[in-house]
Amino acid sequence: MSRSRLTAQFLIPIALTAGFTVLAAATKDARAADRPNILFIFTDDHCEQALSAYDPSRITTPNMDRIANEGMRFNRCYVTNSICGPSRAVIQTGKYSHVNGFIRNGNTFNGDQQTFPKLLQAAGYQTAVVGKWHLASTPQGYDYYDVLKGQGPYYNPPMITAGDNGKPVTRPHTGYTTDIITDKTLNWLKEDRDPDKPFMVMYQHKAPHRNWMPAPKYLNWLDDVTLPEPETMWDDYSGRTKSASRQTMTMKEHLNSNDLKLTGHATMNDEQIAVWDAAYGPKNAAFEKAKANMSEKEIIQWKYQRYAKDYLRCVKSVDDGIGRVLDYLDQTGLAENTVVIYSSDQGWYLGEHGWFDKRWMYEESLKTPLLVRWPGKIKPGSVNEDIVTNLDYAETFLDIAGVDVPSDMQGRSLVSIFQGETPADWRKSFYYHYYENPGGHNVARHFGVTTGKHKLIHLYALEGEKINDWELFDLQKDPNELHSVYGDAAYAKVQSELKAELERLRTLYAVPEDNDPGRRQQPRAKNAGTRKAKKAA
Ligand code: CA
Repeated sequence: MSRSRLTAQFLIPIALTAGFTVLAAATKDARAADRPNILFIFTDDHCEQALSAYDPSRITTPNMDRIANEGMRFNRCYVTNSICGPSRAVIQTGKYSHVNGFIRNGNTFNGDQQTFPKLLQAAGYQTAVVGKWHLASTPQGYDYYDVLKGQGPYYNPPMITAGDNGKPVTRPHTGYTTDIITDKTLNWLKEDRDPDKPFMVMYQHKAPHRNWMPAPKYLNWLDDVTLPEPETMWDDYSGRTKSASRQTMTMKEHLNSNDLKLTGHATMNDEQIAVWDAAYGPKNAAFEKAKANMSEKEIIQWKYQRYAKDYLRCVKSVDDGIGRVLDYLDQTGLAENTVVIYSSDQGWYLGEHGWFDKRWMYEESLKTPLLVRWPGKIKPGSVNEDIVTNLDYAETFLDIAGVDVPSDMQGRSLVSIFQGETPADWRKSFYYHYYENPGGHNVARHFGVTTGKHKLIHLYALEGEKINDWELFDLQKDPNELHSVYGDAAYAKVQSELKAELERLRTLYAVPEDNDPGRRQQPRAKNAGTRKAKKAA
C-alpha cells in the first residue's frame, strides 16, 4: 500500500467525521438558538401594592417596571393556595396542592414526581435554581442548585448545594442574602452554564418575607417619608363571618418586637450589628421617648410606618439585583432570546384590613404580581386582564421551550396570551383552596371561586373545629371586600350560579370531598381530568 493511498484511506473518514461534527454542532447551535432561555425571577410575599408598575404610591421599582414596560403586565394573576411552600410546589408541577401532595408549609415535596425542570432538562435545557427553595426535599431536575436552608436568614445565610460527590452540602456565606442570591445567579450565568445550551434559571429571593431586614445601605432610606395608609387599615371585620376577626395577623397586636426592629439582630456579625444599631438605635430611642404620650391609634400608625418601610427597603434590594441581571442580559446580547418572568409566591397585606401576612382568598393575597418580557413576541407595554394563575407557569415554561405539556398538568400555557391572543375558551372562573388551620395566624381553612367580578368563599374549619360559613363579594361594588352579600336576596342568582361553578371546578380538579388530602406525599396519577375538560376551565 502506497503512503498516499494509506493517508487517503485515513483522511477521508477523518474529514467526513470532522465535517459531520461541524454540521451536528451547527444544527445543535441553531436549535439551541431557536429555543429561548427562561429567566424566572421569583420573590417571597411581594404584593402589587409595593411594585410601582402596579401601584406607584409607596415605592419606585424601576427594574421590575422595566420588565412591565418592555413586556406584559398581568392584572389578575391568582395563586391556588396563598402560602409559600404550596405555591412553589404548584409551580414545579402545574398541579393543585391536593394533587402534588404539598398542602401546607411543613410538608416535604415529593421530588420524585413529574416537574417542569425535569422535562426541560430532558429536552436539552440547562436548569438551575438559586436562593429560596422552601420545599424541604433536595431539588431534583436541576443541573445546578444553591438554595437557602428552609426560610433562610436575611444576613449570612447557610446555603445548600451539591458537593463534589453529588451529595448536598451546606456552605456558610457572609453578606446580605438578596445580594448573595443575585451574585450566585450572575456567576452561574457568566461562568458555570454551558453556553451551547438554552437555560432556565429560577432566581428566587427570600425577600421581602417576614421579618423584613433591610440591607445596610437602605437602613435609613425612607426615614423622611410618611407612607400613605391603606383605605382599609381600620377595618373592624364586621361585614364578614367570624373568621375575619379571629385571625392573628394584625399590625396592632401581632407584630413582635423583632418584626418592629425594637430588639434582635438575628444572624448578623459584629460589624453588621454596629451598622444596624447606628441606624435603628436613634429611631427606636425617639419612639420609646414619645410612646407614653401616643394614643393607641398613633402607636398602630407608627407600627405601620416601621413595618411597611422595612418591607419596602427589602423590595428595593431585590429591584437593584434584578437591574444587575437585566444589565448582564443586555451586555451579552442574551436579552434578545431570553424570556424574563417576574412573580412572587403570593400577594400580601401591606396594612390592608390592619394586617400583615397572606393566606386569605381576599384580593391582596389571592393576587400575585406577574410581569413577562419576551422580545419580538410580547408587545411592549401590554396589559392583560385574563384570569391567569401560578398553576399555568410550568405549562408556559414547557411551551416556551417547545416541549409538549403533559396532559395531567392542570393549568394552561400563557404563550398565546403573551402574543395578544387569548383563546376563546380561556378560564372565566378560578378555584382556590387554603388548608393551614390550625396554623400560623389562625386563618380558617377555606375554598372558593372567583370570576373577577364576584367571589364566593366557604370557610369550613377553624381552630380544630368544623364551621360552615360562607361569604360572597361583589368585587365591582365592593372591591375592598368589606361587606359579604351572602344570603342577600338581590344576589340569589349570582350565589347559586357560583355554588354550581364551585362544584364544577371541584369535580374537574378532583378535590377530595372531605377537603382533607392530609399529608399524603404521593400524587395520584389519574385525577387531573382530560386536556379537553381542562380547556373548559
Ligand atoms: Ca410567601
